[in-house]
Amino acid sequence: MAKHVVIVGGGVAGTIIANLLARGLKEELSKAEVVITMVSKDDKHVYQPGFLYVLFDKMRPDELMRDQRSLLAPSIIFHHDTVVGIDPKACEVHTEKGKKLKYDYLVIATGSRPMPELIPGLKEHGNMFYTLESAIELREKLRKFEKGRIAIAMGVPHKCPVAPFEVTFMLDDYFNKKGIRDKVEIYYTYPIGRIHTLEPVAQWGVPEFERRGIKYETLFNMEKVEAHNGTIAVHSAEGSTVECDLLITIPPHRGAQAIIDSGISNDGWVPTNRYSLKYEGYENVYVAGDTTNLPISKAGSTAHFESDVVADNLIAEIKEGHPARDYDGKVMCFIETGFDKGTYIHFNYTTPPSPMPPSKMIHWLKLGYNRMYWLTARGVL
Ligand SMILES: Cc1cc2nc3c(=O)[nH]c(=O)nc-3n(C[C@H](O)[C@H](O)[C@H](O)COP(=O)(O)OP(=O)(O)OC[C@H]3O[C@@H](n4cnc5c(N)ncnc54)[C@H](O)[C@@H]3O)c2cc1C
Repeated sequence: MAKHVVIVGGGVAGTIIANLLARGLKEELSKAEVVITMVSKDDKHVYQPGFLYVLFDKMRPDELMRDQRSLLAPSIIFHHDTVVGIDPKACEVHTEKGKKLKYDYLVIATGSRPMPELIPGLKEHGNMFYTLESAIELREKLRKFEKGRIAIAMGVPHKCPVAPFEVTFMLDDYFNKKGIRDKVEIYYTYPIGRIHTLEPVAQWGVPEFERRGIKYETLFNMEKVEAHNGTIAVHSAEGSTVECDLLITIPPHRGAQAIIDSGISNDGWVPTNRYSLKYEGYENVYVAGDTTNLPISKAGSTAHFESDVVADNLIAEIKEGHPARDYDGKVMCFIETGFDKGTYIHFNYTTPPSPMPPSKMIHWLKLGYNRMYWLTARGVL
C-alpha cells in the first residue's frame, strides 16, 4: 500500500515541503510507494513580502505571482480546493468540493489571515497592505498624500514582525524623495511597552526613529476607529486617542477558518511541539509556517526553516521509520530601512537577535532575494 502524504496549503511552507519531498522521495514516487497530494484554496502563489514594494512603486503586482501548479514538481498531485475540515483521529481531510482525502501523513500549512473586522471601524477607516488589493489601494492614497499626519497602528498577533519598522522607514524615505517630508508627520504606535517585540530591535530602533523625526507611542492597543470630517480617530484600550489623516494598519491575525471549524483551536493556531513540529498528540501530523501556535515570528523565513525540518523528518520517517532532527527556532529577517539601505536579524530559541548597522549591501541582497524567492519555493535555494 502506498503511503499517502497530504499537504494542506500551498504557500511558502506547503510548497517548499512538497517540492523537497518530491526530490527526497523520487524513487518511492516513481514506484508508486508514496503519493503526495497538495490541496490549496489559491491556484496563484503570491510573494507577500513584495506587497511592501508595490506600496512604494518599487515592484509591479504581476511580478509577485506565479501559477501554483507551475511551482510544483510534476509528481505532486495538486487540487485547487478549500479544506473545510480536518479529522486527525480518522486521518481524513474534507474539502469544499466534496473530496475526502485519507492520509498516512498530514502537513498543515494554512498560514494566517489579517482580520481588520476584529476591531470596530478598522476595516472602514484603516488602510492595510497585507493583501495585494489593499496594497494597491493604499499605494493610490500615498501617491495623492501631500500633507498631514499618517498614523501606523497594529494588532497582535501579526505576520512579519519587522513590517511595522519597514513600512515606517520606507514612508520616511518616500516622502523625503518627494520633497514633502516636512509636511508629513509619521506617528508610529506599538501595542507593548517598547517599539518592537524583539528587545534588541527596539533598542536599535529608538535612535533611528529619533534621528528621522518619527514620533512614537507605545502601549497602544487599538480598540476602536472612528472618522469625522476626514479626520480618523484611533482609540486605544489604554485610553489614548491618536488623530490622523491616514491610518496605516497591520490588523490582528488569525489562523485558517478550517482549523477553527475542525475544533483544533479557537483562533486557528495549531498546538505544535516546538522541536518536532508535530501537532501535539498526533505523531503523523506536521505543522509549518504561520499556522503553528509557537511563540516565534510568523515569517516566511520561519516557514522556510521549519519546512526543511518537516521535509527531512517526513523523508526519514518514510524511508527509515523515525524522524531525523529537531527545529531550533531559527528565523532570519531582512529589514528595509529606507534610503537604499537595509539590515537583518537572525535568531533562534536560545540566541537573541542583534541588528547590524544598515548598509546598501543588505538592501541589495533583499532586492535580489525578492527575485530569487521562486527558487526557494521550488526547494532549490
Ligand atoms: C506585507 C508583508 C511583508 C512580509 N515580509 C516578510 C519578510 O520580509 N520576510 C519574511 O520572512 N516574511 C515576510 N512576510 C510574511 C510571510 O509572507 C508569511 O509569514 C509566509 O507567507 C507564511 O507562510 P505560510 O506557508 O505559513 O502561509 P502562506 O504563505 O500565507 O500560505 C498559506 C496557504 O494556505 C492556503 N490555505 C489557507 N486556508 C486553506 C484552506 N482552508 N484550504 C486549503 N488551503 C488553504 C492559502 O491559499 C495559502 O496557499 C510578509 C508578509 C506580508 C503580508
